[in-house]
Amino acid sequence: MTLARGRGLRMIPGPSVVPERVLNAMHRAAPNIYEGELIEMVETVRADLCRVARTAGAVAIYIGNGHAAWEAVVANLLAPGDLALVLATGRFALGWAETARKAGVETEVLDFGFRAGVDIGRLEARLREDRAGRIRAVLVVQTDTASSVRNDVPAIRAAIDAAGHPALLAVDCIASLGCEPFEMDAWGVDVMVAASQKGLMTPPGVAFTFHGPKAEAARVPARSATWDWEPRIRPQQFYQLFAGTAPTHHIFGLRAALTMLLDEEGLEAAWERHAVLAGALWAAVEAWGRGGAVELNIAERQARSHAVTTIRTEPGAAAALRRWCEAEAGLTLGIGLVAPGTDERAIFRIGHMGHVDPPMLLGTLATVEAGMKAVGIAHGEGALSAAAAAIAKARPVAREPAAAVG
Ligand SMILES: *Cc1c(COP(=O)(O)O)cnc(C)c1O
Repeated sequence: MTLARGRGLRMIPGPSVVPERVLNAMHRAAPNIYEGELIEMVETVRADLCRVARTAGAVAIYIGNGHAAWEAVVANLLAPGDLALVLATGRFALGWAETARKAGVETEVLDFGFRAGVDIGRLEARLREDRAGRIRAVLVVQTDTASSVRNDVPAIRAAIDAAGHPALLAVDCIASLGCEPFEMDAWGVDVMVAASQKGLMTPPGVAFTFHGPKAEAARVPARSATWDWEPRIRPQQFYQLFAGTAPTHHIFGLRAALTMLLDEEGLEAAWERHAVLAGALWAAVEAWGRGGAVELNIAERQARSHAVTTIRTEPGAAAALRRWCEAEAGLTLGIGLVAPGTDERAIFRIGHMGHVDPPMLLGTLATVEAGMKAVGIAHGEGALSAAAAAIAKARPVAREPAAAVG
C-alpha cells in the first residue's frame, strides 16, 4: 500500500503549481489568430509583464523555456568575440555562459561557490582591472535555483557604477520574478530574462526578455531571425511578435495569472507572502538542524531566496527522503542540483514559488519530517511549531473580547 492517495503536491522549483484559474483559462477552443480577442489580449499581457518587471522598457515573448530567453539575450547583445563576465553562485549563470559560448562569445567566470552570493568587492576589483572596457556584459542570476542563493542586484549595479564600467547588467529572474522584490528600472538593470513556469504560475513554454534604453542602444545585428528583438518589439504584423504562430493558450493562461498576481493579490503582497513562507521554512530547517545533520545551504539570511530552498543532509540520505515523500506521501521535492564535487544525494530542494499558501508549505514540512523519521535521518524536534509560529507572527490579529457568559 501507499498513503499517496490524495491530490499529490509538487513542491519543486519549477514548474510550479498551476492555479485552477490558469488551467481553466487555457481550457478553451483555439482562437482566431488574425484578429479579435487574442490580439488585444496580447497587448495587455505585454503591458502587465512590464508591470511585473517594474520597467518602462520593452518586452519580447518567446515560445520556449528559460534557455530560449538566455539565447535571445546573447543573439541581440553579444557578438562573437565579445567578452561576457559571468557571476556564478550555483548552476544557472553557468548555463547562460554555456549558451553564450556556443554562440562564439568569450566568457569569463567569477565563481563565488555554492553557498554564498556574489562578493561585491571582488566583482568591483575585476571591473576596475578591465581598463580597456572589454567586458561587454555582466551576466548574473537573481535567485540561483540550485544553491538557492539570492544575489543583491542593486549592490551589483553599484559595483559596476563604482568601477565606472560601461558593461550592461543582465539579470536572470526566471526563478524569482513575482516572488522576490525586483525593480528593473529603479535598480538600473539593462536586461532581464524570465519564464512562465515559476513565479508566474503558468505551464512551461513561454519565456521573456525585458530590455531598457541602454541595451536598446547596445544591440548588435541579431544573428538569428528567430531571436531578433526588432520585429518582436515593433511588429508590422501580429505574427512577428512571436516569429510565427502565437502561443495561444499560454496567452490565455498568462492573462489569468497576471490578473491574479497584479490586480487581485498585488505584487508587493506576493513578495511579502513569499517572504513569510520562506521565513517559516527556514525556521523549520533550523529546528531540524538542532538535533541532526540537516542545514540550510545558505547560512546568511539576507542571501537566501524566497522562492526555493536548498537543504543539505547526510550523504545519500536526501535521495531516500525524496523517494519516500513521493512514493509514500505523494509529495514531490526537488532533486539536488549541485556544484561539481558535491554529493547531490545529500541535497534536496523545496520550491515555494508562485501559487503557494501556508497549508501547502506546512503540509510539505510535516511530510518531510515524517519522511526523515521513516528513513532515519537524525533531526531536531519542534520544526513544525517553529514554522507555524513564524507564520502566526507575520499575520497577528487582535482577538475580539470574549462575550460575557450568563
Ligand atoms: C528554471 C531556471 C532556468 C532554466 O529555465 P528553463 O525553462 O528550464 O530553460 C534558468 N535560470 C533560472 C534561475 C532558473 O530557475
